[in-house]
Amino acid sequence: MKFDPADKIQDLQYFSEFGGVNPSISDSSTYTFTSAKTMFDTFEGNADGCYLYSRHLSPSNLYLGEALAAMEGTETANVSASGMGAITPVLMQLCGAGDHIVSSRTIYGGTYAFLKNFISRFGVETTFVDITKLEVVEAAITKNTKVLYCESVSNPLLEVADIVGLSKLAKKHNLKLVVDNTFSPLSISPAKLGADIVCHSLTKFINGSSDTVGGVVCASQKIIDNLRNVNNGASMLLGSTMDSLRASSVLKNLRTLHIRMKQHSFNAAYLADKFQKDGLKTVYPGLQSHPSHQLFKSMMNATYGFGGMLTIDVGSLEKANELMELMQQKNLGCLAVSLGFYKTLFSAPGSSTSSEIPEEEQAEMGLSNGLIRFSIGLDANIERTYQIMNSCMHQVGLL
Ligand SMILES: *Cc1c(COP(=O)(O)O)cnc(C)c1O
Repeated sequence: MKFDPADKIQDLQYFSEFGGVNPSISDSSTYTFTSAKTMFDTFEGNADGCYLYSRHLSPSNLYLGEALAAMEGTETANVSASGMGAITPVLMQLCGAGDHIVSSRTIYGGTYAFLKNFISRFGVETTFVDITKLEVVEAAITKNTKVLYCESVSNPLLEVADIVGLSKLAKKHNLKLVVDNTFSPLSISPAKLGADIVCHSLTKFINGSSDTVGGVVCASQKIIDNLRNVNNGASMLLGSTMDSLRASSVLKNLRTLHIRMKQHSFNAAYLADKFQKDGLKTVYPGLQSHPSHQLFKSMMNATYGFGGMLTIDVGSLEKANELMELMQQKNLGCLAVSLGFYKTLFSAPGSSTSSEIPEEEQAEMGLSNGLIRFSIGLDANIERTYQIMNSCMHQVGLL
């Protein structure tokens, strides 16, 4: 049978000690041991199944982590307090002074800033490349390269990474392929396509209710053990730990992710098609006109569609702001950063979420001022939404 990530999530059931259908929330920072020897062994990493201290691991965080590992098809996972709290320890664990990273140039602004301005202070250099050109990626690899970094579907330009091709390059040059899959949970399963490490910001589609930040690293037991090592593990030592109460609420939201992703994708595909027919410059991986439409198709778990993210380019920031303010007045969505909410969210990335990227570099990668990024919501009647959006576009003189 075909791998279906949602089946994997559903198959994973943890009962509480009283038979409750949800696991109990662990409400302790520390754990007792009946023998001192077991406590010692746990510190040494030799006592499986024992909890030590909740910055290391807690039952609630384990339940959420295991469900996300099942979804991505990896051995295990480690949850964290935010997406950045997942991504940054991975890169710091894999790289030290003198090492080199080859990264896609179209990535989340925070990750871009971390690579360019922060980890560089510790002697780790990054070369940013057009990730859609494998020959350009390979040419950037040096003898010091340790990591290939990309997003399956990039923020905000919705470029699609050829994960199979990149994983071949990673194997050939003995690198770790790290993929941020925040934009395409369920639709794309990067580990199944050869990625070594899959990260998510849980803040977005996976939690889906815009009420918390959270993150996860899905990988092999060995990589996760290294991240959690009490002596030299970056996740353990940098301390970006998710709280148990939050882990339990994210797990409950994860149970409905498959239904939500189908609706996000359905609504986004509907609008992208209409926008394109109206003559707007529309980017959506589900459109035939998207340069990587076939590539996305070849990688996707088809049931979940092409995702909920789309962009249009309205020519100028002034026009973008005018349209977004009007759409918000008409209650079509919120002028807000982030994504994956039940309501549509829109923002102009050039002046917000990607403002960490210098203007000339934005221009080079094709990120124009008039770009509006939409995270399409779960609207029950997307036809009605389209009609109101269309009248807004007429009102601001776009159509
Ligand atoms: C939001 C986001 C992040 C960062 O996640 P936080 O939860 O805000 O720390 C990383 N990557 C992508 C693609 C994102 O959209």
